[in-house]
Amino acid sequence: MNARAPSYRGRFAPSPSGPLHDGSLLAAMASYLDARAHHGQWLLRIEDIDTPRVVQGADTVIQQQLQALGMHWDEAPVWQSQRLSLYEAAFARLQQAGLIYGCACTRRMLTGGPYPGTCRHGLPPGQRARAWRLRVPEGEASTESFVDRWFGPQTQNVAREVGDFILRRADGLWAYQFVVVVDDGLQGITDVVRGADLLESTARQRLLARMLGFTPPRVMHVPLLYDSEGRKLSKQNHAPALDLNQPLQTLQRAWQGLGFPAFPADSIQDFWARALPAWAARHCISNQ
Ligand code: GLU
Repeated sequence: MNARAPSYRGRFAPSPSGPLHDGSLLAAMASYLDARAHHGQWLLRIEDIDTPRVVQGADTVIQQQLQALGMHWDEAPVWQSQRLSLYEAAFARLQQAGLIYGCACTRRMLTGGPYPGTCRHGLPPGQRARAWRLRVPEGEASTESFVDRWFGPQTQNVAREVGDFILRRADGLWAYQFVVVVDDGLQGITDVVRGADLLESTARQRLLARMLGFTPPRVMHVPLLYDSEGRKLSKQNHAPALDLNQPLQTLQRAWQGLGFPAFPADSIQDFWARALPAWAARHCISNQ
């Protein structure tokens, strides 16, 4: 072990389903600022595990966008598609501990609420496993309480509100919920800063992290941006790529999206030099 391991390791973990847009820049900016404000490390992880959604070349574009805006990562980026043996190994450990079971349910059989546990005690006769689920501890053992550094105290009972969730999908791909926990754990991530749409995933990720022997990272979820019709800005909604012809305006828009007032900056470097102390003061990092 490195005795001088930093007390802060953050990451930005975009899915390369398209270029970054104004919405994803908020998460990138907040995680970058938070890492720098803590004198920590900031890693880039390309979450290309959901191969049907991957757009060829988007990973390169994302790296260029971050560099163009002055956001430089420490350590070489990692691609989830190159870490499959790590996921196999983590899955095998859970399986050996009896924490995984095969599930034959099709999406049509499920109503969309918490998984009712249909296959928890065995597959229905004549059925074969399609997906693989985590056996979530019953009752209060699956209650997760944590403090989100933006949204405050949170509590969720995973068994009741989510149920046994999928780690390996029916199409054979690893589920986001699983690989994100394995990667954060193996990469020694201490702090996750990301979009608020993932706040509701945090309890199950904490639960799974502990089952794998990892310490769950601290979390901060930052606001999302919405389009004029009130929809979350996303690649699915065709949010335009970041405007890099006017990088300062692009940065200022994200900064304001995070709730800060715009300030004068005459270069990208100058923007970060001023944003950093403002971020640190807003989030009182010296008290944590
Ligand atoms: N890859 C996920 C996304 O682009 C983010 C994962 C995370 O930050 O935990 O939405």
